[in-house]
Amino acid sequence: MEQHREVVIIGSGPAGYTAGIYSGRAGNKPLIITGMEFGGQITKSFDLENYPGFTEKIDGLYLTEQMRKQSEIFGAEVLADTVVEVDFSKRPFTIKCENDNVITADAVIIATGASYRKIGLANEAKLTGHGVSYCATCDGFFFRDKEVFVVGGGNTAVYEALHLSTLCKKVTIIHRRDHFTAEQINQKHLFETPNISVMWNSTLDEIVEDAEGKKVAGVKIKNTQSGEITSYDTDGIFIAIGNQPNTDVFKGQVELDDSGYIKTKPNLCATNIDGVFAAGDVKNPNFKQVVIAAASGAQASMEADKYILSTKE
Ligand code: NAP
Repeated sequence: MEQHREVVIIGSGPAGYTAGIYSGRAGNKPLIITGMEFGGQITKSFDLENYPGFTEKIDGLYLTEQMRKQSEIFGAEVLADTVVEVDFSKRPFTIKCENDNVITADAVIIATGASYRKIGLANEAKLTGHGVSYCATCDGFFFRDKEVFVVGGGNTAVYEALHLSTLCKKVTIIHRRDHFTAEQINQKHLFETPNISVMWNSTLDEIVEDAEGKKVAGVKIKNTQSGEITSYDTDGIFIAIGNQPNTDVFKGQVELDDSGYIKTKPNLCATNIDGVFAAGDVKNPNFKQVVIAAASGAQASMEADKYILSTKE
Protein backbone atom coordinates (compact mmCIF):
# COMPACT_ATOMS: atom_id res chain seq x y z
CA MET A 1 0.00 0.00 0.00
CA GLU A 2 1.23 3.51 -0.84
CA GLN A 3 0.51 6.56 1.30
CA HIS A 4 1.89 10.00 2.15
CA ARG A 5 2.46 11.40 5.66
CA GLU A 6 3.74 14.67 7.01
CA VAL A 7 5.75 12.80 9.65
CA VAL A 8 6.92 9.19 9.62
CA ILE A 9 8.54 7.79 12.74
CA ILE A 10 10.67 4.68 12.32
CA GLY A 11 10.90 2.67 15.54
CA SER A 12 8.56 1.90 18.41
CA GLY A 13 10.58 2.30 21.59
CA PRO A 14 10.16 5.16 24.08
CA ALA A 15 11.74 7.62 21.60
CA GLY A 16 9.44 6.60 18.73
CA TYR A 17 6.22 6.58 20.74
CA THR A 18 7.03 9.87 22.47
CA ALA A 19 7.74 11.38 19.05
CA GLY A 20 4.31 10.02 18.05
CA ILE A 21 2.62 11.70 21.02
CA TYR A 22 4.22 15.07 20.24
CA SER A 23 3.79 14.88 16.45
CA GLY A 24 0.17 13.80 16.92
CA ARG A 25 -0.53 16.71 19.25
CA ALA A 26 1.11 19.05 16.70
CA GLY A 27 -1.50 17.84 14.15
CA ASN A 28 1.00 16.05 11.90
CA LYS A 29 -0.90 12.69 11.88
CA PRO A 30 2.31 10.66 12.25
CA LEU A 31 2.77 7.09 11.13
CA ILE A 32 4.90 5.00 13.50
CA ILE A 33 6.54 2.01 11.79
CA THR A 34 7.23 -0.47 14.57
CA GLY A 35 10.04 -2.66 13.25
CA MET A 36 10.39 -6.23 14.52
CA GLU A 37 10.92 -5.35 18.17
CA PHE A 38 7.62 -3.80 19.33
CA GLY A 39 8.31 -1.36 22.15
CA GLY A 40 12.09 -1.66 21.83
CA GLN A 41 14.67 -3.05 24.23
CA ILE A 42 13.02 -1.66 27.36
CA THR A 43 10.20 -4.20 27.01
CA LYS A 44 12.72 -6.78 28.30
CA SER A 45 13.01 -4.89 31.59
CA PHE A 46 10.50 -5.96 34.24
CA ASP A 47 11.54 -3.73 37.09
CA LEU A 48 12.12 -0.21 35.97
CA GLU A 49 12.44 2.05 38.98
CA ASN A 50 14.05 5.22 37.65
CA TYR A 51 11.39 6.44 35.19
CA PRO A 52 9.98 9.60 36.81
CA GLY A 53 6.40 9.63 38.02
CA PHE A 54 6.19 6.09 39.39
CA THR A 55 6.93 5.22 43.03
CA GLU A 56 6.60 1.47 42.41
CA LYS A 57 8.72 -0.59 39.99
CA ILE A 58 7.13 -0.74 36.56
CA ASP A 59 7.33 -3.20 33.69
CA GLY A 60 9.00 -1.87 30.51
CA LEU A 61 6.39 -3.51 28.30
CA TYR A 62 3.59 -1.86 30.30
CA LEU A 63 5.30 1.52 29.98
CA THR A 64 5.74 1.33 26.19
CA GLU A 65 2.18 0.03 25.76
CA GLN A 66 0.93 3.11 27.61
CA MET A 67 3.10 5.29 25.37
CA ARG A 68 1.68 3.60 22.26
CA LYS A 69 -1.92 4.09 23.41
CA GLN A 70 -1.17 7.71 24.32
CA SER A 71 0.28 8.37 20.84
CA GLU A 72 -2.84 6.84 19.24
CA ILE A 73 -5.10 9.06 21.36
CA PHE A 74 -3.40 12.04 19.71
CA GLY A 75 -3.80 10.72 16.17
CA ALA A 76 -0.67 8.64 15.58
CA GLU A 77 -1.15 5.48 13.54
CA VAL A 78 0.99 2.42 14.24
CA LEU A 79 2.09 0.23 11.32
CA ALA A 80 3.50 -3.20 12.17
CA ASP A 81 6.13 -3.50 9.47
CA THR A 82 9.90 -3.28 9.06
CA VAL A 83 11.68 -0.69 6.93
CA VAL A 84 13.95 -2.30 4.33
CA GLU A 85 14.95 0.71 2.20
CA VAL A 86 14.87 4.50 2.42
CA ASP A 87 15.57 7.26 -0.06
CA PHE A 88 16.42 10.56 1.60
CA SER A 89 18.03 12.01 -1.54
CA LYS A 90 14.86 13.77 -2.71
CA ARG A 91 11.64 15.14 -1.19
CA PRO A 92 9.26 13.76 -0.28
CA PHE A 93 11.39 11.07 1.32
CA THR A 94 10.55 7.45 0.45
CA ILE A 95 10.36 4.58 2.93
CA LYS A 96 9.85 1.01 1.73
CA CYS A 97 8.80 -1.76 4.12
CA GLU A 98 9.06 -5.54 4.12
CA ASN A 99 5.30 -6.06 3.56
CA ASP A 100 5.08 -3.89 0.43
CA ASN A 101 4.10 -0.72 2.30
CA VAL A 102 5.62 2.31 0.57
CA ILE A 103 5.32 5.62 2.39
CA THR A 104 6.40 9.07 1.33
CA ALA A 105 7.05 11.62 4.05
CA ASP A 106 7.76 15.33 4.44
CA ALA A 107 9.79 14.62 7.58
CA VAL A 108 11.23 11.44 9.07
CA ILE A 109 12.19 10.71 12.65
CA ILE A 110 14.54 7.73 13.04
CA ALA A 111 14.12 6.07 16.43
CA THR A 112 15.31 2.54 15.70
CA GLY A 113 17.41 2.18 18.86
CA ALA A 114 20.19 -0.32 19.31
CA SER A 115 20.51 -4.13 19.59
CA TYR A 116 22.64 -6.49 21.66
CA ARG A 117 26.34 -6.58 20.76
CA LYS A 118 27.67 -10.07 20.01
CA ILE A 119 31.10 -11.40 21.03
CA GLY A 120 31.59 -13.06 17.64
CA LEU A 121 32.53 -16.58 18.81
CA ALA A 122 32.11 -19.31 16.19
CA ASN A 123 29.09 -21.08 17.75
CA GLU A 124 27.56 -18.02 19.50
CA ALA A 125 24.72 -17.59 17.00
CA LYS A 126 24.00 -21.33 16.75
CA LEU A 127 23.69 -21.69 20.53
CA THR A 128 21.58 -18.57 21.06
CA GLY A 129 18.41 -19.84 22.68
CA HIS A 130 20.24 -23.08 23.58
CA GLY A 131 22.24 -21.80 26.53
CA VAL A 132 23.45 -18.49 25.11
CA SER A 133 21.24 -15.51 25.95
CA TYR A 134 21.37 -11.70 25.78
CA CYS A 135 18.49 -11.10 28.19
CA ALA A 136 18.31 -12.45 31.73
CA THR A 137 14.83 -11.07 32.29
CA CYS A 138 13.63 -12.99 29.22
CA ASP A 139 15.50 -16.28 29.68
CA GLY A 140 16.66 -16.40 33.31
CA PHE A 141 13.66 -18.53 34.26
CA PHE A 142 15.06 -21.44 32.21
CA PHE A 143 18.20 -21.51 34.37
CA ARG A 144 16.48 -21.84 37.75
CA ASP A 145 18.83 -23.49 40.31
CA LYS A 146 21.60 -23.80 37.70
CA GLU A 147 25.07 -22.26 37.46
CA VAL A 148 25.51 -19.56 34.84
CA PHE A 149 28.09 -17.08 33.57
CA VAL A 150 27.57 -13.42 32.62
CA VAL A 151 29.97 -11.57 30.30
CA GLY A 152 30.46 -7.79 30.66
CA GLY A 153 31.20 -5.07 33.19
CA GLY A 154 28.67 -2.27 32.57
CA ASN A 155 25.30 -1.59 34.16
CA THR A 156 23.57 -4.20 32.05
CA ALA A 157 25.94 -7.01 33.08
CA VAL A 158 25.52 -6.10 36.75
CA TYR A 159 21.72 -5.92 36.41
CA GLU A 160 21.65 -9.25 34.57
CA ALA A 161 23.79 -10.90 37.27
CA LEU A 162 21.59 -9.48 40.06
CA HIS A 163 18.45 -10.70 38.35
CA LEU A 164 19.96 -14.17 37.74
CA SER A 165 21.14 -14.41 41.37
CA THR A 166 17.50 -14.56 42.44
CA LEU A 167 16.91 -17.60 40.21
CA CYS A 168 20.20 -19.44 39.82
CA LYS A 169 22.34 -21.36 42.25
CA LYS A 170 25.51 -19.53 41.25
CA VAL A 171 26.34 -16.62 38.93
CA THR A 172 29.88 -15.82 37.77
CA ILE A 173 30.68 -12.60 35.93
CA ILE A 174 33.53 -12.69 33.44
CA HIS A 175 34.97 -9.21 32.85
CA ARG A 176 37.98 -8.24 30.76
CA ARG A 177 39.02 -5.39 33.11
CA ASP A 178 39.84 -5.28 36.83
CA HIS A 179 36.90 -3.00 37.63
CA PHE A 180 33.31 -2.43 36.54
CA THR A 181 31.99 0.68 34.81
CA ALA A 182 28.50 0.09 36.26
CA GLU A 183 27.02 2.67 38.66
CA GLN A 184 28.37 2.39 42.22
CA ILE A 185 24.97 1.60 43.75
CA ASN A 186 24.55 -1.35 41.36
CA GLN A 187 28.06 -2.59 42.14
CA LYS A 188 27.31 -2.36 45.88
CA HIS A 189 24.22 -4.56 45.46
CA LEU A 190 26.28 -7.01 43.41
CA PHE A 191 29.18 -7.33 45.86
CA GLU A 192 26.68 -7.86 48.68
CA THR A 193 25.03 -10.79 46.88
CA PRO A 194 26.51 -14.06 48.17
CA ASN A 195 25.90 -16.27 45.10
CA ILE A 196 27.61 -13.89 42.64
CA SER A 197 31.36 -14.01 42.05
CA VAL A 198 33.57 -12.12 39.59
CA MET A 199 36.46 -13.28 37.41
CA TRP A 200 38.46 -10.12 36.66
CA ASN A 201 40.83 -9.75 33.68
CA SER A 202 39.06 -12.61 31.93
CA THR A 203 37.48 -13.21 28.55
CA LEU A 204 35.20 -15.89 27.17
CA ASP A 205 37.54 -17.79 24.88
CA GLU A 206 35.23 -20.58 23.77
CA ILE A 207 31.68 -21.81 24.27
CA VAL A 208 31.81 -25.58 24.78
CA GLU A 209 28.92 -27.56 23.26
CA ASP A 210 27.39 -30.82 24.46
CA ALA A 211 28.17 -34.06 22.60
CA GLU A 212 25.37 -33.49 20.06
CA GLY A 213 26.41 -29.87 19.48
CA LYS A 214 22.92 -28.76 20.46
CA LYS A 215 23.40 -26.80 23.69
CA VAL A 216 25.92 -25.14 25.93
CA ALA A 217 27.87 -27.52 28.16
CA GLY A 218 30.68 -25.30 29.38
CA VAL A 219 33.00 -22.36 28.87
CA LYS A 220 36.71 -21.85 28.38
CA ILE A 221 37.87 -18.68 30.07
CA LYS A 222 41.14 -16.94 29.35
CA ASN A 223 43.00 -14.90 31.93
CA THR A 224 44.18 -11.86 29.98
CA GLN A 225 47.24 -11.39 32.22
CA SER A 226 48.61 -14.94 32.40
CA GLY A 227 47.11 -16.23 29.15
CA GLU A 228 45.94 -19.32 31.06
CA ILE A 229 42.74 -20.96 29.81
CA THR A 230 40.46 -22.75 32.29
CA SER A 231 37.39 -24.89 31.52
CA TYR A 232 34.17 -24.82 33.53
CA ASP A 233 30.90 -26.69 33.15
CA THR A 234 27.86 -24.46 32.82
CA ASP A 235 24.29 -24.48 31.57
CA GLY A 236 24.05 -20.87 30.50
CA ILE A 237 25.99 -17.84 29.30
CA PHE A 238 24.44 -14.38 29.39
CA ILE A 239 26.22 -11.89 27.17
CA ALA A 240 25.82 -8.26 28.28
CA ILE A 241 28.51 -6.31 26.47
CA GLY A 242 26.57 -3.32 25.18
CA ASN A 243 24.62 -2.48 22.10
CA GLN A 244 24.94 -1.75 18.40
CA PRO A 245 22.82 0.90 16.70
CA ASN A 246 20.13 -0.30 14.27
CA THR A 247 21.26 1.83 11.36
CA ASP A 248 22.12 -0.63 8.57
CA VAL A 249 19.17 0.51 6.47
CA PHE A 250 20.27 4.17 6.74
CA LYS A 251 23.89 3.67 5.58
CA GLY A 252 24.65 6.08 2.75
CA GLN A 253 21.43 8.03 3.46
CA VAL A 254 22.35 9.94 6.65
CA GLU A 255 25.71 10.59 8.23
CA LEU A 256 26.78 7.99 10.80
CA ASP A 257 29.69 8.10 13.25
CA ASP A 258 32.49 5.51 13.35
CA SER A 259 30.40 3.23 15.60
CA GLY A 260 27.37 3.44 13.28
CA TYR A 261 25.27 5.83 15.43
CA ILE A 262 23.45 8.62 13.59
CA LYS A 263 25.26 11.96 13.81
CA THR A 264 23.11 14.92 14.78
CA LYS A 265 23.81 18.64 14.96
CA PRO A 266 25.03 19.84 18.41
CA ASN A 267 22.17 19.76 20.96
CA LEU A 268 19.67 18.91 18.21
CA CYS A 269 18.06 15.83 16.66
CA ALA A 270 18.57 17.21 13.14
CA THR A 271 20.79 15.04 10.94
CA ASN A 272 22.83 16.21 7.95
CA ILE A 273 19.66 15.85 5.80
CA ASP A 274 17.10 18.64 6.25
CA GLY A 275 13.85 17.02 7.33
CA VAL A 276 15.43 13.84 8.73
CA PHE A 277 15.81 13.65 12.51
CA ALA A 278 17.17 11.03 14.90
CA ALA A 279 15.96 10.33 18.43
CA GLY A 280 16.91 8.03 21.29
CA ASP A 281 19.59 5.33 21.47
CA VAL A 282 20.18 5.35 17.71
CA LYS A 283 21.94 8.71 18.13
CA ASN A 284 22.96 8.69 21.77
CA PRO A 285 25.52 6.06 22.73
CA ASN A 286 26.39 7.66 26.08
CA PHE A 287 23.20 7.77 28.10
CA LYS A 288 20.87 4.89 27.32
CA GLN A 289 17.95 5.66 29.59
CA VAL A 290 14.23 5.50 28.87
CA VAL A 291 13.67 9.02 30.14
CA ILE A 292 16.42 10.34 27.87
CA ALA A 293 15.10 8.44 24.83
CA ALA A 294 11.59 9.75 25.51
CA ALA A 295 12.86 13.33 25.85
CA SER A 296 14.80 12.92 22.64
CA GLY A 297 11.65 11.74 20.82
CA ALA A 298 9.81 14.83 22.06
CA GLN A 299 12.62 17.08 20.87
CA ALA A 300 12.83 15.40 17.45
CA SER A 301 9.12 15.84 16.84
CA MET A 302 9.25 19.51 17.85
CA GLU A 303 12.16 20.01 15.44
CA ALA A 304 10.26 18.13 12.72
CA ASP A 305 7.17 20.28 13.28
CA LYS A 306 9.27 23.44 13.00
CA TYR A 307 10.80 22.09 9.79
CA ILE A 308 7.38 21.28 8.26
CA LEU A 309 6.10 24.78 9.12
CA SER A 310 9.20 26.32 7.53
CA THR A 311 8.55 24.45 4.27
CA LYS A 312 5.03 25.94 4.13
CA GLU A 313 6.15 29.55 4.57
P1 NAP B 1 28.34 -0.62 28.36
O1 NAP B 1 28.17 0.34 29.47
O2 NAP B 1 28.86 -0.15 27.05
O3 NAP B 1 29.27 -1.78 28.90
C1 NAP B 1 29.67 -2.83 28.07
C2 NAP B 1 30.56 -3.75 28.87
O4 NAP B 1 30.88 -4.87 28.07
C3 NAP B 1 31.85 -3.11 29.30
O5 NAP B 1 32.21 -3.64 30.53
C4 NAP B 1 32.81 -3.57 28.20
O6 NAP B 1 34.13 -3.68 28.64
C5 NAP B 1 32.31 -4.95 27.92
N1 NAP B 1 32.58 -5.38 26.55
C6 NAP B 1 32.33 -4.71 25.39
N2 NAP B 1 32.68 -5.46 24.33
C7 NAP B 1 33.16 -6.63 24.82
C8 NAP B 1 33.65 -7.83 24.24
N3 NAP B 1 33.75 -7.97 22.90
N4 NAP B 1 34.05 -8.82 25.05
C9 NAP B 1 33.97 -8.69 26.39
N5 NAP B 1 33.50 -7.60 27.02
C10 NAP B 1 33.08 -6.58 26.24
O7 NAP B 1 26.98 -1.37 28.00
P2 NAP B 1 25.73 -1.66 28.93
O8 NAP B 1 26.13 -2.19 30.24
O9 NAP B 1 24.81 -2.48 28.08
O10 NAP B 1 25.06 -0.25 29.12
C11 NAP B 1 24.74 0.55 27.98
C12 NAP B 1 24.24 1.89 28.49
O11 NAP B 1 22.98 1.72 29.15
C13 NAP B 1 25.15 2.57 29.49
O12 NAP B 1 25.11 3.96 29.28
C14 NAP B 1 24.53 2.18 30.80
O13 NAP B 1 24.84 3.08 31.84
C15 NAP B 1 23.05 2.23 30.47
N6 NAP B 1 22.26 1.37 31.36
C16 NAP B 1 21.70 1.95 32.44
C17 NAP B 1 20.94 1.21 33.31
C18 NAP B 1 20.31 1.89 34.49
O14 NAP B 1 19.18 1.63 34.83
N7 NAP B 1 21.02 2.77 35.16
C19 NAP B 1 20.75 -0.16 33.07
C20 NAP B 1 21.35 -0.74 31.97
C21 NAP B 1 22.10 0.04 31.10
P3 NAP B 1 35.16 -2.45 28.47
O15 NAP B 1 34.82 -1.49 29.55
O16 NAP B 1 36.48 -3.10 28.60
O17 NAP B 1 34.92 -1.89 27.08
